[in-house]
Amino acid sequence: MNPLSQDIKYLQGVGPNRAATLEKELAIKTVGDLLMYYPYKYVDRSRFYKVCEIDGNMPYVQLIGQILSFESMGEGRAKRLVAHFSDGTGVIDLVWFQGIKNAAKNYDCRRPYIVFGKPTVFNSRINIAHPEIETVRPEDTARIEAMKLRSEAHQQNLFDEGDGEELTMTSGISTNTTPTASPTIKSALRPAYNTTERMKKGGLTSQAMAKLTANMMKLLNQPLEETLPPYMVERHMLMSRDEAVRNIHFPQSADHLRRAQVRLKFEELFYVQLNILRYARDRIKKYGGIVMPKVGDAFNGFYHNHLPFPLTGAQKRVVKEVRTDICSGRQMNRLLQGDVGSGKTLVALLCSLLAIDNGCQVCIMAPTEILAEQHVETLRKFLGDMPVRVELLTGSVKGKKRESLLHDLITGSINILVGTHAVIEDNVVFSRLGLVVIDEQHRFGVAQRAKLWQKNELASVNQTQQANGTTRLCPHVLVMTATPIPRTLAMTLYGDLDVSVIDELPPGRKPIQTIHQFDSHRKSLYASMHKQLQMGRQIYVVYPLIKESEKIDIKNLEDGYEQICAEFKDYKVSRVHGKLKPAEKDEEMKRFAAGETHIMVATTVIEVGVNVPNASVMVIENAERFGLSQLHQLRGRVGRGADQSYCILVTNYKISSDTRKRIQIMVDSTDGFEIAEQDLKLRGPGDLEGTQQSGMAFDLKIANLARDGQILQYARTAAQQVVESDPDETNPQNDILWRRLKELRKTNINWGAIS
Ligand code: ADP
Ligand code: MG
Repeated sequence: MNPLSQDIKYLQGVGPNRAATLEKELAIKTVGDLLMYYPYKYVDRSRFYKVCEIDGNMPYVQLIGQILSFESMGEGRAKRLVAHFSDGTGVIDLVWFQGIKNAAKNYDCRRPYIVFGKPTVFNSRINIAHPEIETVRPEDTARIEAMKLRSEAHQQNLFDEGDGEELTMTSGISTNTTPTASPTIKSALRPAYNTTERMKKGGLTSQAMAKLTANMMKLLNQPLEETLPPYMVERHMLMSRDEAVRNIHFPQSADHLRRAQVRLKFEELFYVQLNILRYARDRIKKYGGIVMPKVGDAFNGFYHNHLPFPLTGAQKRVVKEVRTDICSGRQMNRLLQGDVGSGKTLVALLCSLLAIDNGCQVCIMAPTEILAEQHVETLRKFLGDMPVRVELLTGSVKGKKRESLLHDLITGSINILVGTHAVIEDNVVFSRLGLVVIDEQHRFGVAQRAKLWQKNELASVNQTQQANGTTRLCPHVLVMTATPIPRTLAMTLYGDLDVSVIDELPPGRKPIQTIHQFDSHRKSLYASMHKQLQMGRQIYVVYPLIKESEKIDIKNLEDGYEQICAEFKDYKVSRVHGKLKPAEKDEEMKRFAAGETHIMVATTVIEVGVNVPNASVMVIENAERFGLSQLHQLRGRVGRGADQSYCILVTNYKISSDTRKRIQIMVDSTDGFEIAEQDLKLRGPGDLEGTQQSGMAFDLKIANLARDGQILQYARTAAQQVVESDPDETNPQNDILWRRLKELRKTNINWGAIS
């Protein structure tokens, strides 16, 4: 029997209780699952540092010495226990914020300990918070002496290569000699595994997990099956899967570890890309695109007589890219990324006119009614007296009006239909739909778009032009998003789409000035607000609203609203939050847009797309609770008119250094792409705005989209080569790939949802 499929319960050191915990906490059911539970970091145990060498920028270090004394410090949340620790070369503080009683009880003064941890600087002193501490046992002394000697010999960085002598475990496995002592202690780079509170209670600490993993390794007397074809392993000079998996748990050396990581990350990203690209290829096979070669009166008439300003270079480029797509006979699926205010609406209009010139209708979808209404207004203004009919269809268009609208849609007398999700209902039937524009859909991942896609099919059932047999003609799709997405994320979330970027703002924009202000300086904040209001400007004040703390958030918003009303008695104040009915919300937004109210107190509902050019100030309360991309989106609501605009980020005086960094990025940069990249680096992909729901990118076990951009690029290219060179999947060399992909699709819900 394959040891990998064995129940984890029977692994040495597990048993029924631990098995239950492992399943509940980590979904580990079999030995194979444990094998795939990778360490999240490694501690270098090949050397001891001296306390006098330590600075605040080091990775995890290992020290040996004694606790001189304990000291309780601070009050309330800052309460902590400090142990002054020394090895004779200096003193460093070990700090506990939690488990203070245990720490004081478990460790004695004047006894030797081995301490691991990451040194940081706090209150200008170097310390290690929540260190791992081990007692030095007699049998360890010889080993420690040897290590001490070694660390004197090579005073280099963390990932120095060990000299093998400590590392018999992993090499022992592959050569099948019996390992002697506990392997985790013998490895120089010791794996550390994430564990939960419940696991720790059941004794499943990181160390225990390492032991179980070592026990498992003993069972694996056969090499692990390769999951990439030999030609790929060779071409990319990858470590074999067997060697990689063994080394990822117990690295023979830092170099082995690096190569194991590259191999496993590559493999992981490769399969994600293969899945996406294969899906895109099948879609192209299945659906044809309406060919739109003509540039006629609609486009030319507008371009020559109605264009209110010259296009930016980036706008021109995107229109050209779209034109190439819609002439190709393939169905266009293009993502248009452009920062707030970069002029996507105009691009959408130009593309629509091309479709109209080719006898087609256009459907533009917006996420909210107010945005849909604004689009209609904008488009009509752009078009002036041109014979292009633009109509609005939302949930609130009812009765007679709706009937006649639907009628005119079937007869084809409406050229552009703008609407909310209402436009994809079954009874909305076009005469000849050629282009669908989806605005601000940054919250949709591949799986969600796949669903939307099926609806597009519905909308196109009525195609008059129907090609033979398998190929169906579908409308072209242009998805527009104002949330710049880092390249690596785009490749994964939107990997099946072609991407266009507007990376240039229309000329003459005054950059928005961004200011960080502490909430203790409210007086001066209000003073600047008064000044802007006197100049006739309007102001947004935004509060966070996040699910778990909704009650408090609503109270904050209400309090803030009262405060604003009291402070700005001569002005009218609007209030909008998610608890309002959509109609009420829209009504309030409209009043503000029309200038009937002066201050808009709101939650993030105003985030998307709304255009009120007279609003020149965006005040964001509790700015620390917003993601960077979200702050950028909010900021984009101002700076739309000719006036100097301001964004004021209000935070508490006490904020973490991380928060300070994030706020500073906002103050320093107005470039959405740069901000998105920084956000990805700081928070990791799982927390990024607009990506939570799209799951798939974040089931990654080992690759990290914030850091592994280069490997991702390799993986994508490799996947592209496979898909292109083996379109019918008949090359026997690739059998292993399709088999593996099938397996992965079975275990990964998000992947399955794509097709
Ligand atoms: P977004 O990309 O955020 O949807 P919009 O399409 O709303 O941006 O455009 C923002 C503003 O810039 C609008 O007022 C629009 O009329 C204007 N605009 C668009 N293109 C240009 C251009 N080439 N030159 C000057 N202004 C432009
Ligand atoms: Mg827009």
